[in-house]
Amino acid sequence: MDGQHIIDRERLFGAQNYAPLPVVLSHGRGAQLFDVAGKRYIDMMSAYSAASFGHLHPRLVKAARDQLERLDIVSRAFHSDNLGAFCQELAEFCGLDACLVMNTGAEAVETAIKAARRYAYDELAIPPDTAEIIVAHGNFHGRTTTIVGFSDDPNARRGFGPFAPGFAHVPFGDAGAAERAVNPSTAAILVEPIQGEGGVIVPPRGYLSDLRRICDRHGILLIFDEVQSGFGRTGRDFVWMHEDARPDGVTVGKALGGGILPVSAFVARRALMNVFTPGSHGSTFGGNPLAAAVGREAIALMREEELSARSARLGAVLMEAIEALRSPAVIAARGRGLWVGVELDPALARGKDVCLALLRRGVLAKETHETVLRLAPPLVIEESELLEAIGALGAALEETAAARAG
Ligand SMILES: *Cc1c(COP(=O)(O)O)cnc(C)c1O
Repeated sequence: MDGQHIIDRERLFGAQNYAPLPVVLSHGRGAQLFDVAGKRYIDMMSAYSAASFGHLHPRLVKAARDQLERLDIVSRAFHSDNLGAFCQELAEFCGLDACLVMNTGAEAVETAIKAARRYAYDELAIPPDTAEIIVAHGNFHGRTTTIVGFSDDPNARRGFGPFAPGFAHVPFGDAGAAERAVNPSTAAILVEPIQGEGGVIVPPRGYLSDLRRICDRHGILLIFDEVQSGFGRTGRDFVWMHEDARPDGVTVGKALGGGILPVSAFVARRALMNVFTPGSHGSTFGGNPLAAAVGREAIALMREEELSARSARLGAVLMEAIEALRSPAVIAARGRGLWVGVELDPALARGKDVCLALLRRGVLAKETHETVLRLAPPLVIEESELLEAIGALGAALEETAAARAG
């Protein structure tokens, strides 16, 4: 079936809640994807970090296959034989004590919100149903009604209210503003340590450790959402490790599922996790045997293939290659590790046009907020593939700027 026919069918029978680029993918391996006509692309997006290990990593596929020879879904009504090991390995990888495994990132964030609120009432003596969580402007934490309720993206919110109360907004990257927002009802500060969907916004150095000190001073919780930024994306296992700002709880997802299935978790200090009692929270699919098998292998790969170090090294190559383009259409490039936001001059290049020009040249990337090109290839990408993609970016920027001028 040809690509256009497939796209038309999806448009006819699917909801229009995304605006995909006009490419229909049919197979992939590592950092390369192929469309239905067999054209090859370099994946510079890795499914928002879900494919951080590349596509169909043989070890992840083997872990999933082996599990599927043995046991499928049994629910949490019973124990299954690898959930305990998964929780231990994930908690240790995060430098924390215990895990509550869910499926999607949004569910992990919902879990964190529930944990913070119950902790506020049980341990911080905040009066029932009054707890407040401090969040950042420009945040992205997922798509549930509670979560979009504290987003400030009008497109994510319009028509979906009424929203849950209990959130206070402060500017991202300003620790002083966060501290001034603390009041007797404050239970926690919840932020992405680098804002992903917001445009790869890197806060000033010291911000995360300042937040840690503020939370200690006021006896409140620090929760980082590392659903997109975690698992080596920024050149360390987690962003907070750049500043030694260990949180009380962290949400993880995306890469944890190895690009194979959704696996997320809230990982926390024992005292915080202890707020959950039987029946108080859960998910039919959360922590299922297949998820545990793939998640365990993903963590093993992080360690054995030293992917965080690889991300740091190749991230420097990526940034240097972008700077070497000296493109007038690029206002600035920012990021950490294999995660870069390229801020485009809207007079010379629109994000969407650059992505279309990249697509024609065999590179897959997606803009965020119209003027930021987000580059986040699989951490297993080869240096030659990375340089090929940036070569294509140079040509795509020239073509787009010329089209704008002409
Ligand atoms: C993607 C993302 C989420 C939501 O994850 P889903 O699996 O799409 O629900 C939450 N937080 C951050 C920081 C994300 O980037």
